[in-house]
Amino acid sequence: MSETYPFTIEQFYKFIGEGKIMGAKCNKCGAVFAPPRTVCSNCLSTDFTWVQLKNRGKLLTYTVIHIAPEKFQPMAPYAYGILELEHGVRLPGIIQGVKHEDIKVGMELQVDFDASIPQTWPQWPRYFFRPP
Ligand SMILES: [Zn+2]
Repeated sequence: MSETYPFTIEQFYKFIGEGKIMGAKCNKCGAVFAPPRTVCSNCLSTDFTWVQLKNRGKLLTYTVIHIAPEKFQPMAPYAYGILELEHGVRLPGIIQGVKHEDIKVGMELQVDFDASIPQTWPQWPRYFFRPP
């Protein structure tokens, strides 16, 4: 993995654009952050390596959004949840491909990438969650 890429949110979303979920792994204590941080919140180290994460995780929590920001109102109501990936990385995103009443905390979901999702950087990366 190339360590020459900067550990920035921009770079994180560039990787997302390439269909990769990349986390910044602290070289000192091993904690992984996605999106990356400039300082490890665990040990305050600033020494990181990019690691690619599996695009699969467990749903920690979710909510169904009925009143969305104007741009996303055509998508409403939609489910928005937080997925726990490996290394305890928590990634927020929209859940698709499953009825809202069938969404369950703890269910396994896959991260998928869709360039057609309107992008209002930095809040809205082009990925979503769906059942595997
Ligand atoms: Zn650390």
